[in-house]
Order: sequence, then structure tokens, then C-alpha cells
Amino acid sequence: MIPIQSKLPHTGTSIFTVMSALAAEHHAINIGQGFPDFEMDEELAALAAQKILQGYNQYVPMAGYMPLRESIAEKIFSLYGNHVSPADEITITPGGSYAIYTAFTTILQPGDEVIVLEPAYDCYIPNIVANGGVPVRVPLKFPDYSIDWEKLKAAINSKTKAIIINSPHNPTGTILSDDDMQELQKILSNTNIFLISDEVYEHLVFDGKQHNSVLKYPELYNRSFVCFSFGKVYNCTGWKLGYCVAPKAYTAEFRRLHQFDAFCCFTPTQVALAEHLKKKERYLSLGPFMQQKRDFFLEKMKSSRFQLHYSSGSYFVCGTYNNISDMSSMDMALHLTKTIGVATIPVSAFYQDGYDDKVLRFCFAKKEETLSAAAERLCKL
Ligand code: PMP
Ligand code: GLN
Repeated sequence: MIPIQSKLPHTGTSIFTVMSALAAEHHAINIGQGFPDFEMDEELAALAAQKILQGYNQYVPMAGYMPLRESIAEKIFSLYGNHVSPADEITITPGGSYAIYTAFTTILQPGDEVIVLEPAYDCYIPNIVANGGVPVRVPLKFPDYSIDWEKLKAAINSKTKAIIINSPHNPTGTILSDDDMQELQKILSNTNIFLISDEVYEHLVFDGKQHNSVLKYPELYNRSFVCFSFGKVYNCTGWKLGYCVAPKAYTAEFRRLHQFDAFCCFTPTQVALAEHLKKKERYLSLGPFMQQKRDFFLEKMKSSRFQLHYSSGSYFVCGTYNNISDMSSMDMALHLTKTIGVATIPVSAFYQDGYDDKVLRFCFAKKEETLSAAAERLCKL
């Protein structure tokens, strides 16, 4: 065999793959990997099936089906008050992760530094490294996972090419406030630092709070690639369809790569979404719907010895287990899967060096019966 010099020599298998495989092997209840175990939006499913039968089965333009880009632009204007151009600023991508990866590929040169706030969603650091960049890790404060602005400022130097942010946040469920966004804007003003904003959970915000998209802050948007995913909006993570919104010049460079990578995405779902996205109540009801699931899970976990943190958004809530065990979170997650049949995700997997505050992540984007069965087992610990 010819040896391959790995682009990711220090990276193992994604924790989501590991835990879901272990859950399957032990027939465990899977509240680890973030995917709904209930049906996606049925009307949208029917619409997509119809579009296949109606013959929408050939390539769409490289940047995406134009009526879908127009529907996205309308949604962005109505939610965030920003007039983005469907022709020049929106590119449909095969999922949110691809949008993030391509944004990194677009801007990074070997040796460029990117600031990553940890715990961080697991694709960011490998994406940076595979593109020749250098991740500079800045820890969020424990236990509220807020940004330590002094540490962030101290990490910036002449090699800093970008910062990646994620709100609502995976794995912690925190969201960035208006004050956070203003602070970020202040720190970045007069720099040439790009911002990559992962907003795949934009509609999953609870308790009457609002999502502070980068798209609401023109000065931030001018330095940004903002990444979204339809999988999280309509409970169809397997559709792997998303988009990247970025100012015209950045989008042009992004598309220079995209045209020779995916070129374009699956057509029938784009045609269906162009229509479905106009029904505002569908995406606006997602937050309250998922909040109910969060509250259901919290209620069922009330008598457990886990201390659950507060989750403002996303699919996730984190919990510490000092009262139950002093195992590492990785060992605890493996142990719970094998012994009581409940799969979770160790938050240490979201730190490059495996740093461990002994926290587990629970996904509540599941049927009530799944949540109560898992909680019943967890409460016995
Ligand atoms: N970012 C975060 C924070 C996520 O949790 C996910 C979940 N899958 C993604 C990006 C990727 O989205 P997609 O599945 O559309 O690639
Ligand atoms: N985003 C999902 C999670 O955090 C998983 C996506 C994946 O498996 N790559 O669980």
C-alpha cells in the first residue's frame, strides 16, 4: 500500500459515531447524538416526494435553486432586518458543516490562526487543521459557558485570520446576547479578522429569548460567513442541506471552491423548501415545540442526582454528576451506555485536549417516550 500522510494525524472517530454505534450495540436509548427520533415536518416530506415525481431531478444552478435563495432572503429580512442578495450573497450547500468547511477553505492560508471557543462543536478544529490553519483554543467560563473576553482578546495577534462562534451553542445550550455581539463587534473593529458564525440552531431558542444572528449586526456581517442548516429547522438532519450567507466578495470566493466540490445540491428538496419556507409559522413554532421537550425532560429528571445546567437553546442540555461518580465523562458515558442502556455524549469530547469538567450532554430532541424511558433509568443512579 502507498502510505498516506494524514491531514488529520491526531484525530480519531467523531464522538457521535462512536456513541451511536455503542448505543446500537447495547440496544441503549440514544439521547447522545443530536437527531430527532420523531418524524420530520410531514407536509415538507410530502412536498419533496411530489417534486421528485414532478420531475425536478436535474441540476439546479451552482449557487442553488433561485426561488429557494429568494425565500431565504425574505426570511432573513423579516427576522434580522438585513437585505441580502439572493444572487450574490446566498449559496445553498450540502449541510451546515460543508458551509463551515468551505468558509475555512476560502479564507485560510497555511499557518493562519483561528480562535475557537471550547467546548466547541467537533468539526471546527479538524476543518481548520485540514486547511493548514492553526486552532487557538480559548476556554469558555465554567459552569455558565460565557465568553471570557479578556482571554479572547489575549488570543488575538497578527496571525489571527478568523474567529468561529456558535449560537445557540452545541454542546452547552447557551446563546449569545446582544451585549456579547456588541462586545465582539468592538473587539473586531479595525482588524482584518473574519468571523464564521455557526447558526444552525437559529430557531431553537427558548423562554421568549431571541436569536442574535450576525446578520443583525452590519459591521459584523461585513467580515462574516454565516452558516445554516435546514436539517435542524424541519427535523430532517438526514437531508444535509444548508446555506452560507456572506457579503458578495466573500461569496464569490466561496463559490470558486464550491463549483468544483459539490457544484450544486440535491434538487427536489430545494424546490420543496422554496415553497415551504414561506410558511413562517412552521419555523417560528420550532422553538416553543422544542422548549416543551426540554421542559418535559427536566421535569422527568427532577428526582435524579444529576445537576442539569440551564439550556437557552439548541437540542441539548448539559449535566454534572459529581454526586453520582468521579469517573471521567468519557468513562461515564461508556459506562451508562453499557450498564443502564442510556447513551449520552461526554462534553470532554468537545475539547481538543480532552479537558474534563465531568459533564455529560443530553439531547432532548426526542419523543416523550424516549425521554421518559431514559430519565427513568438515569434517576435510579
Ligand atoms: N454545527 C453544529 C453546531 C451542529 O450541531 C451541527 C449538527 N449536525 C452542524 C453544524 C452540522 O449541520 P449539518 O448536519 O447540516 O451539516
Ligand atoms: N450535530 C449532531 C450532534 O451534535 C451530530 C451530527 C453528527 O453526527 N455529525 O450530536
